[in-house]
Amino acid sequence: MNGAGSKLCFYCIEYKKAAKDYPLNYAFADQEEITPRCYLHWQYECDSCKSMTHFNGIAWCSDCKEFTCLNCADEHMVKKKFLVYDYYYTIDCKKCNKPNPALDFAEFNGSHPFQIGDLIPKEDVVVWMPINTEEAVSNQFPNPSWGSIRVESMGNITTITRLESLDEIDPKTVWDANAPDWAGKWPKGGDFNHKHFIIPEVLRLLDVKEGEKILDVACGEGTVTRHLAKKGARITGIDYSNMIDYAMKKEREERLGINYLKADALKISEIFGKESFDKVVCNMAIMDIDNYKALFKQVSEVLIENGLFIFSITHPCFSVPTTTTVRIPRDSQRNEDKIRIVKNYFEKRPTLVQWNPDSVNLLYFQRTISDYINTFREVNMVITEMSEPQTSEKLKEKFPRDTYIDMEMIPYFLIAKVKKVTEL
Ligand SMILES: [Zn+2]
Ligand SMILES: [Zn+2]
Ligand SMILES: [Zn+2]
Repeated sequence: MNGAGSKLCFYCIEYKKAAKDYPLNYAFADQEEITPRCYLHWQYECDSCKSMTHFNGIAWCSDCKEFTCLNCADEHMVKKKFLVYDYYYTIDCKKCNKPNPALDFAEFNGSHPFQIGDLIPKEDVVVWMPINTEEAVSNQFPNPSWGSIRVESMGNITTITRLESLDEIDPKTVWDANAPDWAGKWPKGGDFNHKHFIIPEVLRLLDVKEGEKILDVACGEGTVTRHLAKKGARITGIDYSNMIDYAMKKEREERLGINYLKADALKISEIFGKESFDKVVCNMAIMDIDNYKALFKQVSEVLIENGLFIFSITHPCFSVPTTTTVRIPRDSQRNEDKIRIVKNYFEKRPTLVQWNPDSVNLLYFQRTISDYINTFREVNMVITEMSEPQTSEKLKEKFPRDTYIDMEMIPYFLIAKVKKVTEL
């Protein structure tokens, strides 16, 4: 092919996935882009502003024989599934005001200027002549070729699956399946993040005083619980998953006087009675608990007046599943090659996350920051302090792979102090 590069056009490849008869063109020169393009799928010159515009942002008026780009006229959105898209733009012709479809849809419905003979391509290109457009529709929306999903597919190792409802999965079995793996990661006070970012902040905000009655909700294998017992608190740990078996075993081996109970966090008011604790702590669990509103109500009930609730969660904005990290190249070990992609912050469906192909599934419940703040208000509680741990020079030096660039720029965790009040 004359003047053609050696790479196939990105759009031709994507469109062929939806339209079986779609011809593949070569990108018109050797383009370094991750989306090399053929001449047909390149740019067209707007007759009004004279600027070269991507073919999906410019429309041809066959009455006036003119191009008008999105910057020169109003666009309108038409919802319709075609090729790999679920909508197209119409752009009002600058000359006659007629709304014409942008060239991506024009190509699909056979009105592209190359298809109707209004223009002859200057470079060698095979132009698609659609016959059966009904078949030329992808049934995958969002399509894998869409912006952030396309980038994600190039360098992502974390699988995020949104569930329609909890009927599809039993949360307890997820945690029980995780228990052996999880407990094994805690030989000396937790994983890297717990050790350096979460536990120090949880303990600082808790500010434990000798003899205080504290409840550790969803205590898991009991690392935080043991920290608090050692500081002289009278502590109870509760968890309904098999994780607590490890905590109980530890207590038998080294007695700290912790009272463990295998029970549901949503029953604490029933079990312990109203106003029975000075403080409640919930470490890295709320984002895994389905009914957080019921939990907050229970916490408010078991707390004394002015009692404190300290909780830590994965950051609602910067952590999986709201945000995911990709590496390009996928196998790069340098943090400079990490890219963060914000998915849907408002997504509320239960979500399964598999961190890498070898790990077991975790279950997340995504919520917004306002969900948390407003739910506390409903049960007479107010957030009085928040912490979003950042890395330090010392940590960067010692653990560059874990913290350099990463935890300099964004917080992975959110730790908060909440107070029970009589009046808001
Ligand atoms: Zn093409
Ligand atoms: Zn223009
Ligand atoms: Zn016109």
